[in-house]
Amino acid sequence: MDTKAFKRSLHSSENYHRKGFGHEAEVASQLESEYQSNLIQEIRENNYRLQRGDVTIRLAEAFGFCWGVERAVAMAYETRQHFPTERIWMTNEIIHNPSVNQRLQEMEVGFIPIAQGQKDFSVVERGDVVILPAFGASVQEMQLLNDKQCKIVDTTCPWVSKVWNTVEKHKKKDCTSIIHGKYKHEETVATSSFAGKYLVVLNMEEAEYVANYILNGGSREEFTAKFSRATSAGFDPDRDLERVGIANQTTMLKSETEQIGKLFERTMMKKYGPDRLNDHFQSFNTICDATQERQDAMLELVEEPLDLMVVIGGFNSSNTTQLQQIAIERGIPSYHIDSADRIGPGNRVEHKPLGRDLEVAENWLPAGKIVVGVTSGASTPDKVVEEAMEKIFQLKALAVV
Ligand code: SF4
Repeated sequence: MDTKAFKRSLHSSENYHRKGFGHEAEVASQLESEYQSNLIQEIRENNYRLQRGDVTIRLAEAFGFCWGVERAVAMAYETRQHFPTERIWMTNEIIHNPSVNQRLQEMEVGFIPIAQGQKDFSVVERGDVVILPAFGASVQEMQLLNDKQCKIVDTTCPWVSKVWNTVEKHKKKDCTSIIHGKYKHEETVATSSFAGKYLVVLNMEEAEYVANYILNGGSREEFTAKFSRATSAGFDPDRDLERVGIANQTTMLKSETEQIGKLFERTMMKKYGPDRLNDHFQSFNTICDATQERQDAMLELVEEPLDLMVVIGGFNSSNTTQLQQIAIERGIPSYHIDSADRIGPGNRVEHKPLGRDLEVAENWLPAGKIVVGVTSGASTPDKVVEEAMEKIFQLKALAVV
């Protein structure tokens, strides 16, 4: 499919909207009262530090809502204002945050239901309004909604669209896109729908396996089985790894994306020689600034003496998981929670250890004076961070009593 031509025709349709509806001022105060936090503002002004009783909070210097997410949520609110009586759907969570998604449902913005693992678009009728989330939607979904003559409100973050353009460039040059990401993540599903041939690698270990196959060959069956759900239809490792280009899910660990890019550059240079590198390897910088800033701030924060870290964000939020990974690599006890409700009652927390299911930790706040590092993913409103910090203060105050 010529995805570029499809996008061009979609963007010129009168049913397609990607710039808001001019209600910014009306929704701004609503968003501020629902998601902003005075306490966070106070901490920012106090050099990202706050001490109450035995607890010192050290907030990362970049955290929480990124502008792509802010923009998507504001556009969703504006959509409700602009279409007060129409039925409005979202193809997915607008962002990975339970409180924001809940709030949109209260505003009667519905999610496309899922039946037997598949989205059931039969609920959407001609003329309905459908919002595409910040991490985008697949080209097939867009086509289906366009065919149904829906009004499409596209909140896809421009950084994500940039990656789509990158994989389209790979396709034009007959390169396979090697996408650093999680093959099931909605953003990667969308990105791969714009690619021609693609292979999704989760981490350096998988990338090394592929690089080794390029240089030394191996079992085609093993390769195909290993990446069966992470490649384009009919992918053949013996044929489709001669020319590769790098792309990424925008929220992966920046350093790892860079390492993977360098690994494939070295691999192609070794196999084809420096003179022919440009015929076999393509790389464009597609790491999102917001992800990079949050990860850099976290790297700075973990250099300080912290007793523990609290990482706040949706459990299916990729960028939150990456922040958690940084704390764990430094050996800091780190608790990933999605809301303040996970804390208490008593000195306990329900949290999600990296790569595992929810667990309960008892006595998680040590006795005496403690320094707690706090950060949050790009989809987490400041209000949620404030609530979590207030709970920690309360718990420690109770312990003293
Ligand atoms: S994390 Fe980056 S790519 Fe994702 S929505 Fe935010 S700004 Fe856009």
